[in-house]
Amino acid sequence: MNYTLRKVGFAAFCGLFFIIGCVLLVNSLGVEGGTPFIGGMFMVISIAAGTRYWLLMTKFETKNYAWYAAQHPECVQGDRVQCASCSSRDIRVRNLMNKTFHRAHLCGKCGATLYYSPEV
Ligand SMILES: [Zn+2]
Repeated sequence: MNYTLRKVGFAAFCGLFFIIGCVLLVNSLGVEGGTPFIGGMFMVISIAAGTRYWLLMTKFETKNYAWYAAQHPECVQGDRVQCASCSSRDIRVRNLMNKTFHRAHLCGKCGATLYYSPEV
């Protein structure tokens, strides 16, 4: 999975809405009955959505299996993984929806999220 391409692609997508917001805002200024609020909303929402997606993809990219194995080497032996919080070996996989195409690996006992992996 190419995280940089996904992040830059979504930032460009949000950038389009930001530009639309700028145009709406500028065109509404000085016009009687103009609504700069709509342009401002486009700008704020596009920045918020872009930032949220960027941070989410960064989290999925960095907190992967290799990161977990490096952080908790005592919890990863071969292909056996255990929870760093409660030492349980009951690890469950949950698909994260909202078009993230990622899965969270959770502890079945305490519910802690251990790491993330892309959907295959
Ligand atoms: Zn646990």
